[in-house]
Amino acid sequence: MIAKKAMGLPLKGLRLAIKSGDTLIQTAGTQALRFKTWFDDSKAGEVLNEQPSATRGYITDKSADASKQDSVSMNETIDIRELEFKKAPINWIPAAILIATPLAAAVVTPWYLMTHQVSAPVWGVFGAFMVWTGISITAGYHRLLSHRAYKAHPIVKNFLLLGSTLAVQGSAFDWVSGHRSHHRHVDDRLDDPYSAKRGFFFSHMGWMLRNYPSGRFDYKNIPDLTKDKVLQIQHKYYGLWVLAANVGLVAAVGWLIGDVWGTLVLAGLLRLVLTHHFTFFINSLCHITGTRPYTDTNTARDNFFLALFTWGEGYHNYHHFFQYDYRNGVKWWQYDPTKWLIAGLSKVGLTSELRTVDDTTIKHAEVQMQFKQAQQQIDTVKSGGLDITHAMQSFQDRIKFEFEAFTQTVEEWQALKAKAIEMKKTEFADRLHEVDENLKHEYAKIEEKIHAHNDNLKIAFRSIGYNNKAA
Ligand SMILES: [Zn+2]
Ligand SMILES: [Zn+2]
Repeated sequence: MIAKKAMGLPLKGLRLAIKSGDTLIQTAGTQALRFKTWFDDSKAGEVLNEQPSATRGYITDKSADASKQDSVSMNETIDIRELEFKKAPINWIPAAILIATPLAAAVVTPWYLMTHQVSAPVWGVFGAFMVWTGISITAGYHRLLSHRAYKAHPIVKNFLLLGSTLAVQGSAFDWVSGHRSHHRHVDDRLDDPYSAKRGFFFSHMGWMLRNYPSGRFDYKNIPDLTKDKVLQIQHKYYGLWVLAANVGLVAAVGWLIGDVWGTLVLAGLLRLVLTHHFTFFINSLCHITGTRPYTDTNTARDNFFLALFTWGEGYHNYHHFFQYDYRNGVKWWQYDPTKWLIAGLSKVGLTSELRTVDDTTIKHAEVQMQFKQAQQQIDTVKSGGLDITHAMQSFQDRIKFEFEAFTQTVEEWQALKAKAIEMKKTEFADRLHEVDENLKHEYAKIEEKIHAHNDNLKIAFRSIGYNNKAA
């Protein structure tokens, strides 16, 4: 997050307003929508969102007198936990797999390809297993189990579960528990299991090589999964499942197409290593490089190039802001094959209850972020001690004017939402359809206004020659 710097008087009001605008939206708008679906029908949500952050945090005794702890003892506790990180013992089995498989793939694959003829069906199976494994993690472990972004028919769920087992990324219990902790504590050095603040290597794979305190999952944040019989079996016999899928199943398919070893090398070993690192990119590179169109309160980035390797999960900034949306690439043109698969399956009844965030809320978050970026531009010029150019002065004035108008739109929007709730409570059932139609019309007007603010910001950014990719 870019630290806000001191700024001149004329924009102080705007700056405060942006800040209070954040609070307004956090409490009344975006935040409510982000968590709404989760709270609606999920006990797990209650556990997740109400669990005090100290549960896995700095203070072991989290009784009422936690507030009495002074900063010295807090620092000491953090130091002790940092020491635990330094002394964390090696996770022998994951470490052996994560180090041996890429080395083996780097040596065996080129040797095999140079000394053997590989048939088209073997390459076909390699491709199919790449897709199956990769998309099982994104559509299965991630969007279905971690975020409950949609519901799946048991056929789909079990197919994705088998694909996720092929991926060798831990049982569903471990994966989901860790991922929910990642969202809850994102970027926290002590509690985010793959915190980007500990650098590229740690967030990519280092976090699995040793038994770090942040990687010890107690499954308290997955009560919805621990009840599931199929997932219990997967967790209990995980090692056997991994071997059965990665050796037994792959070899059996190889036998069917007449090349067991070729299939084991390509659809087994090479596919496993590539899928591992493509998934790991989401935790490492997607927190390092790309744009932040929706929020700069965490390190998650949107990155089209990474979306190509991660089955659409490269739009990670959006995902961290609106995590229960079944889409990560939310615009229709964004490359997100996982969302296309989920949406496609819904057409034939194999998936249902796809959760989405409405377009106005999404656009609002983008515009809000653009105001922040505008403010940062102004701060940068001012803190550099440079004379404000005419163009910059007029940019500053435009932003101030636009922000006042935007605040008014947001207030109208909040009032409309309150009115909608009230009307639905008090109107007669036979008039509800009519009420809905009217509200739809009013919501569309708000959406239009937010789009107009967006367009005006684009023009303002262009006037100072600033290429705002998010705008
Ligand atoms: Zn992330
Ligand atoms: Zn997620």
